[in-house]
Amino acid sequence: MSLYIVPTPIGNRLDMVPRAVDILQSVSLIAAEDMRHSKPLLEHFNIATPLLPYHDHSDDRVLDKIMGKLQAGESVALISDAGTPLVSDPGYRIVDAAHRAGIVVIPVPGPCAAIVGLSAAGLPSDRFCFEGFLPAKSVARSKALEALKGEERTLIFYEAPHRVLDTVSAMAEIFGADRQAVLARELTKLFETVRRLPLGEMRDWIAGDGNQQRGECVLLIRGSEKREDGGLSADAQRILSVLAAELPLKQAAQLAAQITGLKKNALYQAGLEQQSGGGQA
Ligand code: SAM
Repeated sequence: MSLYIVPTPIGNRLDMVPRAVDILQSVSLIAAEDMRHSKPLLEHFNIATPLLPYHDHSDDRVLDKIMGKLQAGESVALISDAGTPLVSDPGYRIVDAAHRAGIVVIPVPGPCAAIVGLSAAGLPSDRFCFEGFLPAKSVARSKALEALKGEERTLIFYEAPHRVLDTVSAMAEIFGADRQAVLARELTKLFETVRRLPLGEMRDWIAGDGNQQRGECVLLIRGSEKREDGGLSADAQRILSVLAAELPLKQAAQLAAQITGLKKNALYQAGLEQQSGGGQA
């Protein structure tokens, strides 16, 4: 009668949440991305529930079978190979169909590489932007990165190990070698690495250490401090101009830096431009 969305560990089986085990043991069917991958995990937790392979590009008959069970009053759980289903993983079509059929969808909280990486990155996390995988081909990848150059939120990408060096090199070229980046690799596993460096240094470090081109990784990039139109964001401009109307510019820039997390010097320069009539505010 319910569709459960159940996350599984991204490397360390101890991260399997007890509620996930209970649900997987009690439903009548588990829709799984790759049965060969999921079987050992399910056996480890004594889960003997029947499995059905599911992908968003599976035949409609697979989706019909799952919906048939749900509409007959049975419960079904969805898992992917690792982490949270639907996050760069299959499941969108099932969840969409369930909502349209009035089936209750119950999400279980659990591991997700993007969020685990973000929690350790020390980059602004009040707003962030999950981009999943970039295109594999270099021209399309550069185009996608160009479009994100002015994004002010922290950017999160998944990347394959054999592409990480090319991707970080392209990012250093397009976002600038000074932009701060975090490589979160093999999270929750034996060779877990979380390293924060400016993109240029990150590129050199990965190029010089083949181990960094192995395993699974999340790349997190600090958002742009300046909009690519050459000015600060409209919000930063407004904060600065309100403060500068009441305070000396130096103090206004300092306070605006504390509020926005932007660099004091950039705000001071923008304030000078505002005062000379060249700013946006
Ligand atoms: N749904 C999953 C989740 O919630 O994280 C992500 C699935 S996506 C197909 C797989 C990608 O997630 C990998 O290529 C890698 O970029 C990232 N990933 C998964 N496990 C990871 C780990 N232990 N450490 C770092 N990145 C990981």
